[in-house]
Amino acid sequence: MIGADQMKPSLYRPHSYHEDRLFPLTLARERLLRGLHFQYHLERHYAYSTHAEVQQESNARNPGYPRFRAARRYDSMTFRQIGKALIGNKLRLSKIGKVKIRMHCPLEGSVRTLTVKREAGRWFALFIVQRESQPLLRNINTVGIDVGLSLFATLSDGSVIENPRWFQTAQAKLRRLQRRVARRKRESNRRRKAILLLQRFHNHVRDQRRDFHHKESRKIVNQNGLIAVEDLNIKGLASGMLAKSVNDAGWSNFLSMLAYKAESAGRVFVKVDPRGTSQTCICGAEVRKTLNDRWHLCLNCGLSADRDHVSAQVILLRARGEPSDANVGVLIPSVV
Ligand SMILES: [Zn+2]
Repeated sequence: MIGADQMKPSLYRPHSYHEDRLFPLTLARERLLRGLHFQYHLERHYAYSTHAEVQQESNARNPGYPRFRAARRYDSMTFRQIGKALIGNKLRLSKIGKVKIRMHCPLEGSVRTLTVKREAGRWFALFIVQRESQPLLRNINTVGIDVGLSLFATLSDGSVIENPRWFQTAQAKLRRLQRRVARRKRESNRRRKAILLLQRFHNHVRDQRRDFHHKESRKIVNQNGLIAVEDLNIKGLASGMLAKSVNDAGWSNFLSMLAYKAESAGRVFVKVDPRGTSQTCICGAEVRKTLNDRWHLCLNCGLSADRDHVSAQVILLRARGEPSDANVGVLIPSVV
């Protein structure tokens, strides 16, 4: 994660970054289990090659990630010296042998580590690859992003990103599957099967959300030279921010995608102090609102606009307050 102080456009140098890719292994269950038994250790979901990188990565996410999981749900094994592990559609793993793999896209960049893991009864290979950055042409557009609850995000130009429609139906189905698990007798086969279905659906929803985050963050990075967001890691959030913590995990995934895509493209990515962004007008005056007040009406300058739209502009204003003037023009509020 980078702030404006660490990355000015003028100082920008292309460099490499990490990206992860997940591929299903078409079962070689027994062999994998034997291998895991031989060299059993529980690894972090994201295994980086040095301790420093692990630290860096875990600092970049919110502290406490990854969350606790029962050991039986979390079988994984990390290989650091991979060499030529991939031969055609086979993966050669030491202590295990050759395992068939389904590659859904070609691997780009150099492989740093490979993790083999089991998830909801299925096996996957997770490659962490190092890639060169891919700078985009300079762009003078700027954007502030306000993440919300009913809407996924509101941008400072007034456009909105809605929560995808599948989100609601998926929540309902998750609840249904959870109830089914709860109804079944503990340690029964039927319960175990219900748990597996629930886990699979959970992972499916997670992948869908991830895909959505990738697409939306890609659009924003392609269209803007400066991207301003709230720093949701700042503790002691103001009252208006509390509701957002509900969705924290989702936001921080989205924001870290924005951060690394912006970094790779040579964009400026700024995280601003989130306190009071919903209680301030772009003229600087305080405009108190409760969570239910959807409209912003400033008695100082007369600005009357949608609450989230104003917040997104306040976020952009705060980002421009940084001492970088490299690509900052005159601010023309797009709110009328
Ligand atoms: Zn005002």
